[in-house]
Amino acid sequence: MSSASHRVTVIPGDGVGPEVVRAGVRVIEAAGVRIDWEEAAAGASVFETGDTSGVPAETRASIERTKVVLKGPLETPVGFGEKSANVTLRKLFETYANVRPARELPGVPTRYAGEGVDMIIVRENVEDLYAGIEHMVTPDVGQCLKVISRKGSEKVIRYAFELARREGRGKVTAATKANIMKMTEGLFKKVFEELALEYPEIKAEHLIIDNVAHQLAKDPAQFDIVVTTNLNGDIISDLASGLVGGLGFASSGNYGDTVAIFEAVHGSAPKYAGKDVINPTALILSSAMMLRHLGEGAAANRVEDAVLVTLEEGTATTQDLVRQTGGDVDTAASTTGFTDAVITNLGRGPATLKARRPAVAAANPPVPLPAWSYSPDHYAAIERRTVGLDIFIETEAEADRLGPELEGIAEGGPFELHFIESRGTKVYPSVGLSADGVRLLRARFLTRDGGAAADADLLALQGRVAARQPGWTHIEKLHVFDGADGFTKAQGE
Ligand code: NAP
Repeated sequence: MSSASHRVTVIPGDGVGPEVVRAGVRVIEAAGVRIDWEEAAAGASVFETGDTSGVPAETRASIERTKVVLKGPLETPVGFGEKSANVTLRKLFETYANVRPARELPGVPTRYAGEGVDMIIVRENVEDLYAGIEHMVTPDVGQCLKVISRKGSEKVIRYAFELARREGRGKVTAATKANIMKMTEGLFKKVFEELALEYPEIKAEHLIIDNVAHQLAKDPAQFDIVVTTNLNGDIISDLASGLVGGLGFASSGNYGDTVAIFEAVHGSAPKYAGKDVINPTALILSSAMMLRHLGEGAAANRVEDAVLVTLEEGTATTQDLVRQTGGDVDTAASTTGFTDAVITNLGRGPATLKARRPAVAAANPPVPLPAWSYSPDHYAAIERRTVGLDIFIETEAEADRLGPELEGIAEGGPFELHFIESRGTKVYPSVGLSADGVRLLRARFLTRDGGAAADADLLALQGRVAARQPGWTHIEKLHVFDGADGFTKAQGE
């Protein structure tokens, strides 16, 4: 039992949040860990006060002080309007690695029971489509920017390899859609392949994300650690939770350079709020992850073991599990009853499925933080050339009419029209097929000789196009880095 005291920000959250968080706090305290809790608000109650961030200044200040958060789910307004307070929290504190274990649990029947499902999904947590940079570029066309950086990729991929080392795991699978999104998912894959060389004792494989979904349904036990981009990870980690009993059992930690946030994967399940019927296992197991992060490895082990014993013996079974086994829900344990049972079982170990322990057991150290070593010199050494411009234009015009007009605008200058495309498919010069138009076209101009373009020439070209096409919406510079195009071709090019 530790005598040191820790400070942790606790956010009860919305819906069933306060119930499950209370369960986690009770178990932690019963495990003998002393924590000074700083209670803070976020989510629905904060949006209602008119704070559109959902995370008030006092909460941010508390997290800056404590660096560790135990939180309940936060409700997200759907559709247009406020951003998700969850995503805001993860991004504000740069918790770049979302870690979600999915392991077979005793007493939790699933289609895969006995196959040895035991994986961790490590999801990049800050970038990708979750950067949330969206625009309506015309009244009818929305666009979301997918942002993937080398730094963001390197941090989370290194984290995954370091986690494999700490946990004594032998394989890391990168799951991407690099075959389609070559500049973004492709960069993630490239960084993965580079970093894998630094971990020769760990098998590194790359699979396309759709195949990962297929393999997860077919043979989930083949996976060990899966590292992936944000949206892919969001989807496959919920899938993985479903393989081992559902959201009631899915725990998670969000790790950053300075702050870590621990929470159940599930949401606020509003229909169960205040009824004392929700399964608190996910939040209790997230609390064990938090204890490990705080250096309280022995207490973390005791909490995990107590949960496993409780599930194994089935003396307190929550409604979700009773429903899965076709039992009478009136006989189910309440949230409080299940938590009481876990507390009673502290100090005992499961007989069948043992908990997995980190390979470096003595100290249960947190996963080492990856260092970022790219200096300005590194970037200065990259040979770069701007070779053209993509201009997006809202127009009713057919590409066959717009094309000659744009060619006329470029005539005599350093650029030539390379193509016009509609939603990624080349429509001019015609390839003989007609794409269904949505009043938004993209015209690509490249320098005639493939040489470098001056900013003044690019701006002059943009000005000439804008003068004839007032529906232009935005532009994108086209670069070549170290001889490789920093832009993709159009479909059919
Ligand atoms: P949800 O709250 O996770 O609930 C979906 C269903 O999952 C529930 O109706 C229930 O299924 C089951 N479930 C969830 N947690 C459970 C638990 N602890 N024990 C047993 N069953 C559990 O998802 P949602 O209804 O889509 O989202 C509700 C709100 O939560 C939304 O505002 C959403 O934005 C937010 N949310 C927050 C977070 C977060 O804070 N990290 C994550 C996800 C969603 P049955 O109906 O079959 O019993």
